[in-house]
Amino acid sequence: MKIVIAQMEHETNTFSPVETPWESFGPDGPYIGVDAYRAMKGTKTPIGAFIDIAEEANADIITSVAGFAYPSGPVSGVAYDRFCELIIEDVRQGCDLIMLDLHGAMVVKDSTLDGEGTLLKKIREVAPSTPIAVSLDLHANVTADMVRNANIIVGYKTYPHIDMYETGVLAGKLLLRLHRKEIKPVMHWNNIPVLAQTLKMNTSEGAMKSYSDRAAQSEKKPNVLASSAFGGFPMADIPEAGMSVVMITDDDQELAKTECNAILNVAWEQKEAFIWKDEPLEDSIRHAKSLKEGPILLLDHPDNCATGATQDTMTTLREALKQGLNDIAVGPIRDPEAVGQLIAAGIGVTITLPIGGKTDMPAINKKGEPLNLTGVIKNITDGDYVITGPQFTGVKASMGRTVVFDTGDAEIVITEKLQEPWDLGVFTSVGIDPSTKKYLLLKSRMYFRPVFLPIAKHSVYCAGVGVGSSDWTMFNYEKIRRPIYPLDDLG
Ligand SMILES: [Zn+2]
Repeated sequence: MKIVIAQMEHETNTFSPVETPWESFGPDGPYIGVDAYRAMKGTKTPIGAFIDIAEEANADIITSVAGFAYPSGPVSGVAYDRFCELIIEDVRQGCDLIMLDLHGAMVVKDSTLDGEGTLLKKIREVAPSTPIAVSLDLHANVTADMVRNANIIVGYKTYPHIDMYETGVLAGKLLLRLHRKEIKPVMHWNNIPVLAQTLKMNTSEGAMKSYSDRAAQSEKKPNVLASSAFGGFPMADIPEAGMSVVMITDDDQELAKTECNAILNVAWEQKEAFIWKDEPLEDSIRHAKSLKEGPILLLDHPDNCATGATQDTMTTLREALKQGLNDIAVGPIRDPEAVGQLIAAGIGVTITLPIGGKTDMPAINKKGEPLNLTGVIKNITDGDYVITGPQFTGVKASMGRTVVFDTGDAEIVITEKLQEPWDLGVFTSVGIDPSTKKYLLLKSRMYFRPVFLPIAKHSVYCAGVGVGSSDWTMFNYEKIRRPIYPLDDLG
């Protein structure tokens, strides 16, 4: 038995000015062939699970390509075509099964609005009857082309995503059972016109919890093989953006449909609860100032790169310094230009320079606004570290060359590359102990939870500026299907 395994992961924020070339998909671009195997074997990711399962089944494994890029603007056509060619070339050589670790919200620049559906369609053209299993992110905007051209689709059940590996295990095992003719999977997919906000998709609270709990309940029923409740990704101006459910049963189309719609109904009835309301930034900082014990997390969520933001807006830090907060660790801010200047100056040197604000955000009508700061260069590193978890455990992360710039009130981690504060390593790898700071200003929306909440005394959401904003009115949707809540009043 021969299995083709690949990973192509990108969550495209169509409002983001950040480019997504081939090089974004790994330290030096995606891993290809045996390098993909070496890099992903042993990681707690869907592709890591696919490799483990295929090895347990004594299959011959072909790892075509493995690439994961941070959310950003539409993927370059060149990068996308290369992913497709690598996978399709291996499929063309002949294989029994295909396992794909995809995101489900990839948009390609000047090309398809449905990167995954289009890839699957192309694979089906060369291998019309080869069974395909796909793992998707909980933020997938699922499309008809994805469902039509795959046999098994399973999404993450958690946000923050701590079940990536388990998702891969479920998808891969179902595919093997299909191959052994133990099951006859049938899928049903449907969506509702609700553009839920990622800040309201924490699966351990509120409406999102009841929606995903209802999906988990389905999965326990006889003949249900997998039940995936997707939150969708709202910063995508594409027709299918929004909440959807994919249900897989063992040869029972009617059950798949009933369960799918029952789960969607749980979300529909609480649609107002999926909408986030911002508090003014000044009020949030004032509140943070009134809190006694640290660390206090200042969550600059609109500039979270895991939502496609530029990770260089300075509005929240500016306000924090203006209101007199100190003992702050900030991180990371992406500013390759400042990193170059600071490294040229050298450790121990005091320097004044503009930090951040180097990127304009035309889709939300905002210009980049750097913050002029004076400080000492405290540390310079290559920015590499290994994630200790609990999410992405074992994955090698690279922030690019990294500098710690100390203004007295704030120690700022400045990086060349985008980097979500998803691990303590963003601070510890550059010599900052985050547990000893009064404030941690994090460009984070959700991934801080499993990592930083355990060391924090308080957390405060700060409505800074960025293309990851939860303020609907900033975004101009043109291609999304209408009507959709909350852009339209659906009663
Ligand atoms: Zn996600």
